[in-house]
Amino acid sequence: MRHLRYMSVLRVIQRRWGPKLASYRWNSRTSIPEERLVQHPSVSRLEIGQAASMLDIGIRNIFNEQHDEFRKKARLFFEENVVPDHEMWEKQHHCPKELFTWAGSAGLLGVDTPVEHGGAGRDFLSSMIMLEEQFYSNCSGPGFQMHSDIVMQYIYKHGSNEQMERYLPGMGAGRIIGGLAMTEPNAGSDVQRIQTRAKQDGTDWILNGAKVFITNGHLLDLVIVAAVTEPTAKKAAHGTTLFLVDYGKEGFNKGRVLHKIGMKAQDTSELFFDDVRLPASSALGEINKGFYYLMDNLPRERVLVSVMGQCSMEGMFELARTYLKKHDPNRLKSQVVQHKLAEVKTAICIGRSFLDMSMDLCNRGKLDSQTASMGKWWHSDTQQWVLKELWELCGDVVENSPLSKAVLDGRAQPIYGGTNEIMKELIARTIVRDK
Ligand SMILES: Cc1cc2nc3c(=O)[nH]c(=O)nc-3n(C[C@H](O)[C@H](O)[C@H](O)COP(=O)(O)OP(=O)(O)OC[C@H]3O[C@@H](n4cnc5c(N)ncnc54)[C@H](O)[C@@H]3O)c2cc1C
Repeated sequence: MRHLRYMSVLRVIQRRWGPKLASYRWNSRTSIPEERLVQHPSVSRLEIGQAASMLDIGIRNIFNEQHDEFRKKARLFFEENVVPDHEMWEKQHHCPKELFTWAGSAGLLGVDTPVEHGGAGRDFLSSMIMLEEQFYSNCSGPGFQMHSDIVMQYIYKHGSNEQMERYLPGMGAGRIIGGLAMTEPNAGSDVQRIQTRAKQDGTDWILNGAKVFITNGHLLDLVIVAAVTEPTAKKAAHGTTLFLVDYGKEGFNKGRVLHKIGMKAQDTSELFFDDVRLPASSALGEINKGFYYLMDNLPRERVLVSVMGQCSMEGMFELARTYLKKHDPNRLKSQVVQHKLAEVKTAICIGRSFLDMSMDLCNRGKLDSQTASMGKWWHSDTQQWVLKELWELCGDVVENSPLSKAVLDGRAQPIYGGTNEIMKELIARTIVRDK
């Protein structure tokens, strides 16, 4: 009967649109010939929802065997050099400086900066593996991503040959630690409101101002500072310049290390610039183009926030699953608990698909601001819900327990890298604007 119905539908289609289309539609209902299937070269790996553990090495179709080898190296680095002492570093509110030289000598800094410029010469995906492994290890302290994925990238993209030679090899080796200073007490979301000024004096610049919430602020040797160089510009965006400022220059002082509720081992500090004299060669890129450089790099920086959030969810999901199976198998028999875990796993897997797509786009230089903003708000927002659910399911309220730590570490995620409200502004702009 069913077959006869199809045949009559086919006859109608053939009469209306010709035999070619009709036969195509008929075939597509049965089976698509092998030669017409689009073969993706690497669709042979499991995705996280299919794997025994989301943290397995050798899964996810955006990666290959070289990525797996690199992941093994990064995982070992965190297990051996970071996990054992992280709690102590949380108490002192910063990691030791030597951690950067250890990572540098293991080839784990400046991962996607070319070898000839002191990096590891790998791709963006490898750089994200380094960040993923950090957040799987649940150690938010080391500010490697700021150093490698932001500051080294700025210098590589916008620096002169002299600046690259001066800083990048030392940064790749971990001898020079980098930071980026945009935010000020009265200028966070709106970078155009910054008050820090650089005034020309002959060929030099004189820098004055204060910055807050600066990652690596206590440890850094070099900071990229955003300063107004053309106060009369029609828009502040047209009059902002980035400067490379070495710690040790007269008038450059570090303030207190902020005692945050989470990410306690990551040093976040204030910086003060009081008549700091800078040579003309310290300007990064062109004068008055700094705002555009900042905007240009932000999509990549937002993917980093997504990666941190996503990996924290995946790591804590596996931790909670193992904990419940081992210590409280009866709780896992409850339908309410099972449904919660099902909801959480679904959100994590959907988040992973979008993020792997974004990382792949970034790897190919095709990531746009809207996609990065969608991920940044969604991953950091979903992270709050997912971690809360897992935390409650495990009843893990003890200070410094892994889940409590992850919950608190994640609280700043919706804020830095551009707040989630601003992400929605950026996404909405592309929706409502005239084409
Ligand atoms: C742990 C940590 C590390 C950081 N590291 C760095 C760093 O290394 N370098 C650096 O330069 N900065 C850094 N920051 C600063 C961070 O980028 C800013 O906190 C962020 O941009 C928000 O700025 P703000 O805190 O001044 O908040 P504000 O901009 O004052 O915003 C306050 C609230 O108002 C909302 N809001 C503001 N404007 C709008 C609007 N137009 N529409 C709707 N809502 C709005 C915001 O979403 C937010 O909820 C860090 C912050 C933290 C917490």
